[in-house]
Amino acid sequence: MPTIHDSFLASTQAHPDKALFERPGRPDITYAEARDVVERFAGALTYIGVRPGDRVAVQVDKSPEAICLYLATLQVGGVFLPLNTAYTGSEIDYFLEDASPRLFVCSPETLVDHRARAHDAMAVESLGADRDGSLIARTESVTPRTDAVDRDLADHAAILYTSGTTGRSKGAVLTHGNLASNCAALLECWRFTADDRLIHALPIFHTHGLFVAANMAIAAGATMIFLSKFDPEQAIDLMQDATVLMGVPTFYTRLLKSERLSPETTAGMRLFVSGSAPLLAEDHRAFTERTGQTILERYGMTETCMITSNPYDGERIAGAVGMPLRDVEIRVTDRETGAPVDTGGIGIVEVRGPNVFEGYWQMPEKTAEEFRDDGFFITGDMGRIDADGYLRIVGRDKDLVISGGYNVYPKEIEDAIDALPDVLESAVIGLPHADLGEGVTAVVVPKAGEHVDPDEIIAALAGSMARFKQPKRVLTVEELPRNVMGKVQKAELRKTYADLYS
Ligand code: ATP
Ligand code: MG
Repeated sequence: MPTIHDSFLASTQAHPDKALFERPGRPDITYAEARDVVERFAGALTYIGVRPGDRVAVQVDKSPEAICLYLATLQVGGVFLPLNTAYTGSEIDYFLEDASPRLFVCSPETLVDHRARAHDAMAVESLGADRDGSLIARTESVTPRTDAVDRDLADHAAILYTSGTTGRSKGAVLTHGNLASNCAALLECWRFTADDRLIHALPIFHTHGLFVAANMAIAAGATMIFLSKFDPEQAIDLMQDATVLMGVPTFYTRLLKSERLSPETTAGMRLFVSGSAPLLAEDHRAFTERTGQTILERYGMTETCMITSNPYDGERIAGAVGMPLRDVEIRVTDRETGAPVDTGGIGIVEVRGPNVFEGYWQMPEKTAEEFRDDGFFITGDMGRIDADGYLRIVGRDKDLVISGGYNVYPKEIEDAIDALPDVLESAVIGLPHADLGEGVTAVVVPKAGEHVDPDEIIAALAGSMARFKQPKRVLTVEELPRNVMGKVQKAELRKTYADLYS
């Protein structure tokens, strides 16, 4: 199986003059030009002292050059380590200390600060979004490197930190085999080819933007319409001349707010993908009504790349994340006993396959805890596989509410609340409660311009669900706290309302 870097070279040979990156109002960058930039970076990395196995930590604004730096790191046998641009100060210290990279590349504006962090074993350089920065300057004085270090599929390609939704981010060590196998499975599943034109508006420090979107485009030899951020009106304009959009659920919520979203404006598109967080079932249905196209939802995580996908040809079901990708196995097990549950039963989702990471960087105990003896990785997500074979995620194990000794799965209550009139969305959490252990609590966002009455919500649910599941309190808010990937920050909600029942 070719590595992602091998596939990149193959794409540059197949169509050197085709655009790999297109950006509105800026010159295209062809595959041949990108290869030239990659080889210059590879020369600079080698000059700086990056040897096979060394980590290259990168915290820069999104740009084609940042993708080229990723490919150059792979070319020299290094391990790419992208960091969320939101991290600052002590967070950066943690990542640099934890990962001990040979090189840290930051943005030009922060170079002066970060240079103070440089030491014998770690160089610091900068890279800006306008092909500027000290690393670009270096490439001008070194010889480009054209050979690629031979890499085995078991060798490390990247360390990617998880989003930190449930606690401190963990560094997931991903091999060349993890990335290449997952990319190949996705290309096949979504029929992605060199003819595709992908609207890429995701950040590139996360698995979705880097190892799903960018890897697929590069390996297929396709074109990315490369945007620094997502703007729904711009995306609609670009759809005239694109084929695929890969987005987080909030992209779709925002697209649905545009009056221009229609069958006509989306006519050229063949695929809309959603992932990284649950897509609201209502958005899924509304999107089909408005455009005639059905969003394809998939499920994955930093540690495993993508796990399941709704089918390209079969039914794409709202609220379901589909079936395992090629060569990937999943099972659902009891959260207490670890025994497999029957069809339709709720338990922990476990996964095994060539997509599953090697382990958490320098956390052997944590790694051992999260794997079963037979090699299945315990995702920490709760779900069920129904008779139709589709996996449905019902929430995270850590978000499970245990009230009066009963398990309450937040998704079930959230779905019921979201279906009520005037409700846009909701988050159900458990808060410390003297009698019950945890009190089921709903945080509800009304639709724009509407008002919801907490008592009415409680009354509406009373007729349709067991008493232990019914929220004790309903709070209304203007919006739910989300991170850049559109993930609802339930830990933050639990902190905010920690004293509600005391
Ligand atoms: P951390 O592990 O640090 O707490 P995180 O789990 O949010 O953070 P990621 O690896 O970015 O970090 O996210 C993976 C998680 O995102 C999955 O475990 C799952 O909970 C959620 N997820 C991804 N896709 C979907 C989806 N389609 N539906 C529901 N949840 C999803
Ligand atoms: Mg996680």
